[in-house]
Amino acid sequence: MKGVVYQGEHHVEVQDVDEPELQGPNDAILDITTTCICGSDLHMYEGRTDAEPGIVFGHENMGVIEKVGDGVDDLEVGDRVVVPFNVACGHCKNCEEGKTGFCLNVNPDGGVPAGGAYGYVGMGPYQGGQAEKLRIPYADFNALKLPGEPEDEYEESFALLADIFPTGWHGTELADLQPGESVAIFGAGPVGQMAAYSAKIKGASKIYIVDRVDARLDLAAEHAGATPINFEEGDPVKQIEADFGGEVDKGVDAVGYQALDPDTDVGSDAYDPARENPAVVLNQLIDVVKPKGQLGIVGLYVPSDPGAPDEMAAQGRLGIDFGKLFEKGQQLGTGQCDVKKYNRYLRDLIAEDVADPSFVVTHEAGLDEAPDLYERFDDRDEDVLKVLLKP
Ligand code: NAD
Ligand code: ZN
Repeated sequence: MKGVVYQGEHHVEVQDVDEPELQGPNDAILDITTTCICGSDLHMYEGRTDAEPGIVFGHENMGVIEKVGDGVDDLEVGDRVVVPFNVACGHCKNCEEGKTGFCLNVNPDGGVPAGGAYGYVGMGPYQGGQAEKLRIPYADFNALKLPGEPEDEYEESFALLADIFPTGWHGTELADLQPGESVAIFGAGPVGQMAAYSAKIKGASKIYIVDRVDARLDLAAEHAGATPINFEEGDPVKQIEADFGGEVDKGVDAVGYQALDPDTDVGSDAYDPARENPAVVLNQLIDVVKPKGQLGIVGLYVPSDPGAPDEMAAQGRLGIDFGKLFEKGQQLGTGQCDVKKYNRYLRDLIAEDVADPSFVVTHEAGLDEAPDLYERFDDRDEDVLKVLLKP
């Protein structure tokens, strides 16, 4: 079968890869109908991790069950399902507590973080789903059944349940966003869009969204009612405080360690890594959120492990103004999204036409177009926001 295979920095190719097989009684094989490209794939794509060439990417997968192992009870061949990006066993201490992003059984290498994911370096031996088929371990636990028929009008929205809709929602949960509160969301990539949209669904009274790409800001304004703040037009903290008349209740970081520092010159390549400053958004959030406010950090930051590649190790140690966080008595929540904690409810919001997150989808294409779309999504300047691949 065909799969999107990492070749090295800024290089993926569509190649023949091994078809997955049932490896245990709890496995199922999924015939992929939709698999998405994620901002998290870009960390590997840009050569910032120790991902080795040969990895099949793809952790945002949905499709139709093609085969089930003898121990699978709840799924049948033909079921339409979406699969959380986390691989989880369902019965360890963390899974029982709903912390399925931190499953203790699925990552034999003990990678960082704990927990497993499809097609991701350090997250266990699970081939990704940017391919024709996928093996789902602990399938009863991991696959979420979906109503309707493959490729119906809900296909795009349901595909976003594998990661970004729950992850955006998670950002607002980590910030403990309540109806009527105000929130500043940094990053208007796919995850930031979903955080803004989640804030709207939750009844936020005022939503700010910060980015430098006007098309992304406009989209969040249109679909989440967010007030756009372009950080290249001046300090976003000052812009928000001037508009709002003070600090906001809550904040969400949907940018991560690749945050561009507005104080650096905009060169010919605005997304030059030399412009990055992984502490910038965190410090702006501490500034713009009120005392006793809460911050939800879903953008990815990397640990400064001795074993990590140099560049990543350095970025794990950030110049965060922890003293200011303390002085303001703020709380912050971080980490990978426990997708399973939210995906059932979000599925039902979609199925009942309460939510339609598909506004972020800009491209649907065959696997063959993946190399081109990776390159364009990586620019973050173009009109490529969320890409759905159709193997
Ligand atoms: P993305 O790269 O498309 O979006 C990031 C956005 O941040 C871009 O639009 C960029 O212009 C903007 N940005 C850069 N510097 C900024 C700054 N200083 N202030 C405000 N905005 C700035 O990626 P994405 O798919 O939206 O993902 C965002 C982050 O979330 C990534 O780090 C990704 O790895 C992470 N992620 C985390 C989880 C999780 O479980 N916690 C899941 C999915 C993705
Ligand atoms: Zn993802």
